[in-house]
Amino acid sequence: MLLAIAVGTAVSCTPSSDADPAPARPMSAVKPARTFSDAAYAKHIAALRTRLASKQLGHLAIRIEDPFVVIGDGSEEDLAGSAQTVRWAADRLEQAFFTHRPTQILDVFLFTRAASYEHGVRALTGSSPTTPYGFYSRHHRGLFMNIATGGGTLVHEIVHPYVEADFPEAPPWLNEGLGSLFEQSSERGGHIIGLTNWRLAGLQETIAEGAVPSFEQLTALDVDAFYGRGSGTHYAAARYLLYYLQEKGLLRDFYREFRAARAKDPTGYATLAKILGERDMPAFQARWQTYVTKLRFP
Ligand SMILES: [Zn+2]
Repeated sequence: MLLAIAVGTAVSCTPSSDADPAPARPMSAVKPARTFSDAAYAKHIAALRTRLASKQLGHLAIRIEDPFVVIGDGSEEDLAGSAQTVRWAADRLEQAFFTHRPTQILDVFLFTRAASYEHGVRALTGSSPTTPYGFYSRHHRGLFMNIATGGGTLVHEIVHPYVEADFPEAPPWLNEGLGSLFEQSSERGGHIIGLTNWRLAGLQETIAEGAVPSFEQLTALDVDAFYGRGSGTHYAAARYLLYYLQEKGLLRDFYREFRAARAKDPTGYATLAKILGERDMPAFQARWQTYVTKLRFP
């Protein structure tokens, strides 16, 4: 199956900074049939139906796409189509990167209209959404999507609970770099790949202005700095750094090596230099900038 997932405009996320999750469960080399038991899903869905009824959200279709429960306010066909995106993204991301799955059943709410998204998020979380596209909330144990804006945001947000489970304390550049890489994605040789997307033009302008932070600075940004001033450049630079690694066939090895080395290399900068075989990272960054300048979207 080949899916081209696209999102046309800005994606923003809610970084989750709530209480630490339970330890993630490792997966065996052979993919287990299901992360959670039938009984666990039945209990979860029964509680979910009670909660939805109390919020007077009307009829919502529900289906299981392990380790998620997908809930939609559109037709059964709408939900089946979006659930296919959830299944595809989860399977391909696990295959490529993740050896741990989310430790709790997560709800994926798919609202088919901006108004129902706004209303649904307010009813379910008590707050209005801060992004028109969709977000992941660890605290509310779910993804909340305005699916009318496309499936790209959905794939982006699916990355976050996996990173949370698989790479504790992942720096924001890695978490958002991976999320945004796959917000426009396809397959190559059975593997998920990110494609160029709308973030390219802004990054090329920032490169032309000489205003992209060094990779040493980018990788060292904490949550406040990454999501603060210049966040658009941070997302884009992280995305196209990982895109470069992907195109050189280095991304999966980089992810695994960084995860293994995270205690002594919490930013990933040393692992990045190692996997690139680079002693002169400023010279590498200059070459990367030339590479990015030549990329095209669409
Ligand atoms: Zn994100």
